[in-house]
Amino acid sequence: MKLQFLGAAQTVTGSMHLLSANGTRVLLDCGLFQGKRAEAFERNRNFPFDASTIDAVVLSHAHIDHAGNLPNLVRNGFRGKIYATGATRDLSNVMLYDSAYVQERDIEYVNKQHRKRNEPLVKPLYTSEDVGQTVNQMVGVRYHQKVEVAEGITITFFDAGHVLGSAVTLIEVREGERTRTVGFTGDLGRKNMPILRDPEPLGDVDFWISESTYGGRIHEPVTGMEDKLEGILKRTIDRGGKLIVPAFSVGKTQEFLYVLFTLNDSGRLPSVPIFVDSPLSVNTTEVFKMHPECFDKETLTYLLNNEDPFGFGRLKFVRSVEESKKLNELDEPCVIIASSGMCEAGRILHHLANNAGDPRHTVLVVGFMAEHTLGRRIVERDPQIKIFGEFYPLRAEVAVMNSFSAHAGQDELVDYTRTIDKRKLKQMFLVHGELTQAQLLSGKLSEAGYDKIAIPARGDGVELS
Ligand SMILES: [Zn+2]
Repeated sequence: MKLQFLGAAQTVTGSMHLLSANGTRVLLDCGLFQGKRAEAFERNRNFPFDASTIDAVVLSHAHIDHAGNLPNLVRNGFRGKIYATGATRDLSNVMLYDSAYVQERDIEYVNKQHRKRNEPLVKPLYTSEDVGQTVNQMVGVRYHQKVEVAEGITITFFDAGHVLGSAVTLIEVREGERTRTVGFTGDLGRKNMPILRDPEPLGDVDFWISESTYGGRIHEPVTGMEDKLEGILKRTIDRGGKLIVPAFSVGKTQEFLYVLFTLNDSGRLPSVPIFVDSPLSVNTTEVFKMHPECFDKETLTYLLNNEDPFGFGRLKFVRSVEESKKLNELDEPCVIIASSGMCEAGRILHHLANNAGDPRHTVLVVGFMAEHTLGRRIVERDPQIKIFGEFYPLRAEVAVMNSFSAHAGQDELVDYTRTIDKRKLKQMFLVHGELTQAQLLSGKLSEAGYDKIAIPARGDGVELS
């Protein structure tokens, strides 16, 4: 049995690992790599293998850095099944169509530049037709249901508590008389987060592939999040400003809405308008409502009492571009939630261009901002930020709430790993984290008595015996 790390190795995007055994090849995740445009373009376009030789894909969750390159895999000849939970399949459906739309718009911009320089035109990474084919190949699998995905290879999903439908995967590989197990976190969530259940242990494994996004950081406790948000809201409104929240359409938006809902429920939400400015968020919120089987008890109770924690009375969902533009003319305190989460694309860019220069406003960061993204420059409070090729001063307040993180922090990653017996674990691989974060986590795990920890680089392969 061989494992190759082909993406999200010493970085956080482009999750993709290849497991080969019994002459079959199973791909774990097939995510988009995000970063500098030219590099991302090259890396996403070219797979380091022939796509038609892959027998099956196991998808941990619907986030675009885990699922976003699947249509390109299909476009390149992959005809096998893609195994995911039902909620992941439904969310991927919405997100991949949106991603195809983004790819097509993106390529228009690239080709405009190419035309100016008389260079040959390029095609988008994939189109909505490829997405249609991809969704057709997706198979919904329940949590805890064991399924054979290739000769001698079975998978079982456990709740990862990271986003609706997210899974930690237990892979059992039978070669001859021997059976060995591999565990893969995908992305691991946190305990006590709104909406979702807590991450669920998967039992002992021989080999363990763990994410390490926040391997070096300890998050604020989940419990204080309502108070902190109330404080940020209050001082922004007192200044007459807008609260601008860049949020991933999937997960973060719904969690943020949920916390606003609980503030509202306890009479602590100031009476300002709240806008969710993203057609994708509207659609994904609908998918959330279709999957109560993934909710925690509290959310289920709200729903049973006919309360809608994602669409309570005060919200306005903004679908059309015209409505979105009107928000710019609004000169009164309000909350605007818009994607994309890392401020690389989407309607958030217009809101930032219009409001970043005014110290009355607040940009509230609730998600991870990868290196070289506009979001990271905002977190680092660069005095000037570049949007659509122009520089804007950053004078708005920048507030950060790590407690919204959908990823486990260092202590939570260590705690989850402790559910695996260290005497049985043969080797551990830390992926999906910048190198320093992975190294810091590795140090903590060693202190907890775990050894044989590797931090593979992209392209590294290991024989698992
Ligand atoms: Zn994720």
